[in-house]
Amino acid sequence: MRKYQMFVDGGWIDSSEDKWIEARNPYSGDVWAMIPKGNSNDVHMAVTAAHRAFSDSEWSNLTASDRGAMLVNLAEVMEEHAEHLAEIEVRDNGKLFAEVVNQTRYLTKWFRYFGGLADKLEGTVPPIDKPHVLNFTKHEPLGVCACITPWNSALLLMAWKVAPALAAGNTVVIKPSEETSASTLEFAALLKKTLIPPGVINVVTGYGHEVGAALVSHPKVRKIAFTGGESGGRAVNTAAAQDFKRVTLELGGKSANIVFDDANIDNALDGAISGIFAATGQTCIAGSRLLLQRSIHDEFLKRLLDKVRGIRFGDPMDPNTQVGPITTKAQYDTILSYIEIAHNDGARCVLGGKPAAQPEFAKGYFVEPTIFVDVTTEMRIAQEEVFGPVLAVLPFEKDDDAIAIANDVNYGLAAGVWTNDLTRSLKMADKLQAGTVWVNTYRSTSYTTPFGGYKLSGIGRENGAEAIKEYTQTKSVWLSTAPKVANPYIRR
Ligand code: NAD
Repeated sequence: MRKYQMFVDGGWIDSSEDKWIEARNPYSGDVWAMIPKGNSNDVHMAVTAAHRAFSDSEWSNLTASDRGAMLVNLAEVMEEHAEHLAEIEVRDNGKLFAEVVNQTRYLTKWFRYFGGLADKLEGTVPPIDKPHVLNFTKHEPLGVCACITPWNSALLLMAWKVAPALAAGNTVVIKPSEETSASTLEFAALLKKTLIPPGVINVVTGYGHEVGAALVSHPKVRKIAFTGGESGGRAVNTAAAQDFKRVTLELGGKSANIVFDDANIDNALDGAISGIFAATGQTCIAGSRLLLQRSIHDEFLKRLLDKVRGIRFGDPMDPNTQVGPITTKAQYDTILSYIEIAHNDGARCVLGGKPAAQPEFAKGYFVEPTIFVDVTTEMRIAQEEVFGPVLAVLPFEKDDDAIAIANDVNYGLAAGVWTNDLTRSLKMADKLQAGTVWVNTYRSTSYTTPFGGYKLSGIGRENGAEAIKEYTQTKSVWLSTAPKVANPYIRR
């Protein structure tokens, strides 16, 4: 049994209470590791280390170019260990190794991209409307940033935060999900192979309501980058408001995947499947509402059912597996309860709707891919995030109906549109209230383009060049060359 420790100030520490959380493999049901159950004392140690490192000359005197080079070096080290990191993450979250190893390789690009951006964070010289004044602006780091991640993509979502935070000159305390902390601790173990000074990156583990809450309310934390659910996001935002801390919140979604009758139907079928059944639906951008134009509704549904019936469950490490288990027992129970709610609200289940029947999957948290039809917009299955392989199908007649249905939720993370009509795609991109709109593709993200939510899906943006600004504050510097100070009693 592997016993992990937390990573603080370049060294390893146990929880000060000497308590542990079991890490369970969602495929086998076995406990495979123990994770320290940290508390507010541990958080204090980590934040103190990050605060010291922030002003320590070893970090603060680095040129932006040298800081960037350190991030590129970190990317190289991570690349060498991408398979190992993926294997650990799969043991914790049960997602397909094939997808996770792609992620652990791909996420290194965030460190390269933001490493490259570090010395391009230029200020401005505004043409100020006063005589004899040189005015310039600079982007300064904020200080200690808390990076809080969920269980579905621990390392990728960590990179989305840590790379821009460090590139801008901040230091970080990372708090991974209590369900999937091991991969982030393995990432921390790689830091000794890099030149990043002790205290610049720290990792504390434990429960959100203890360690997470202590971290976001710590007075020396100046920025919180959080990815997680709506209730956690609300708690973080409330705590941050007490000390006017900056926040970036990447929250849930109920994204619409909209198929028009002029679409390439084969592509749209694959887009609908990847939208909801990839990662067993445990993704914030899941296309959990499939909006089908009435004229193709029945035929599309028939073909979708034929394809989904053949989906292969199995060991997430097996390259032939298409759908793995749900990550946690609690989430498995939530999904089954949403299936019951959908039945009770009058939706009709045409596929799945229960745990996997095969005895070989009995120890894992497997739920069959599930499709509901006869769904109306006010039903909870059409409004609330399930975070599992449960698809709600809704028909629509015309473009404006699709827009109205798609926007009739409190979320606004993403939307998919399948059409070959250029004018229609641009109109949909314009009208859909979502931070990301995909046309004839689905479930793509990149370090080069902003990602974030409208409405209850969040605040702020990650990724893309603008994301680095979320980790800076702008200073305006005035330099007078006037020979004499003007009348001191009059403001100019
Ligand atoms: P969660 O909100 O339960 O937990 C996320 C993280 O926040 C965990 O590390 C948790 O310990 C911590 N946390 C919880 N309460 C806290 C509090 N009061 N103070 C500080 N930290 C706290 O989310 P989850 O169940 O781990 O993940 C699933 C959710 O994440 C889904 O809603 C999903 O849509 C969302 N998600 C969003 C994105 C995105 O980019 N928008 C990506 C992935 C997941």
